[in-house]
Amino acid sequence: MKASKARIALATMLCAIPASAFSWADEGHTAIWEAAQSLLTPQAKQQVDAVLAGDKPDMTAVWLDRARDAGKNEGPLVGDQETTDFIQAFPFHFTWHYVDMPLGVKSYAEADEFTGRDDVVQQIKRCIECLEGKSTKLHRRTALRVLVHLIGDIHQPMHCSSGFFDISDPLHPVLRTDPDSCLPLKKEKLEDRGANQLFYGPEKYDQMHALWDFELVKRLAGLKSLTKLLQDALPDIDSTTPGDLHAWAEHWAGESVALAKAAYTGIEFGACTLNTTGKGPKIERIEIKLPAGYIDRQKTVAGTQMVKAAARTAAVLNAIWK
Ligand SMILES: [Zn+2]
Repeated sequence: MKASKARIALATMLCAIPASAFSWADEGHTAIWEAAQSLLTPQAKQQVDAVLAGDKPDMTAVWLDRARDAGKNEGPLVGDQETTDFIQAFPFHFTWHYVDMPLGVKSYAEADEFTGRDDVVQQIKRCIECLEGKSTKLHRRTALRVLVHLIGDIHQPMHCSSGFFDISDPLHPVLRTDPDSCLPLKKEKLEDRGANQLFYGPEKYDQMHALWDFELVKRLAGLKSLTKLLQDALPDIDSTTPGDLHAWAEHWAGESVALAKAAYTGIEFGACTLNTTGKGPKIERIEIKLPAGYIDRQKTVAGTQMVKAAARTAAVLNAIWK
């Protein structure tokens, strides 16, 4: 089906379903993984089952988030020896979930000054190499858990972008998008950290990032399970990725930053509250006003991205174990 037709079909399907509580963060990641498993070839499925032997089915896709919680002494993996060893071996694992590219870049390669060896793109590549047997940096089970989680994350546009702001007048912060203008702002850390510092309401979690992680997905799901919703939409979405398997993550990050740019369009930026307790002022929060119809438009984008994440997770595993 053509992309425009597919979007209409998905939008129609999604709008017909009432809301219930789901999130990209937990049930969302799990639904992506469940939908992905339905697309595995028999040989890939056999390998996946062998690598994940002993894993609780609902833990695989969220293990990396739970490991991050354990690092803060929270959640079910506190005291788990495998998790403790992982945290000690990879103290910067919390940066694996994202890459803060300026909204104006056209590709991951163009964002060279904003990428890093521990970002989501590089880590996906590393996990693939571990599962191919070309690297032993991660245990195979850890590599598979991390890969499944990060392919979900990289398809969340706010995980591949950051708004950089000129705060010369804190009452009127100005969003910058081109890499040259953003670089000095990055050095001063004058960014919204993947839309985490943008608040559309007064509550603690009224952040634009959380809107994408939780609220949009909540609006997608309903009486039908989120997994079923994604599975039903799979045939209608073109999820193919051109080129070599090891460069796919760069392509996905490029798609996500373009969607993020569109997701910032029409937002009005209000007053910026600065934190001045450290070295140089930092952006604590910027009040924003979302354009009319924002959630209805963007929930379809979120749904399409989750469907692509499911199909592409399966595509990677089928390519590794073909
Ligand atoms: Zn994550």
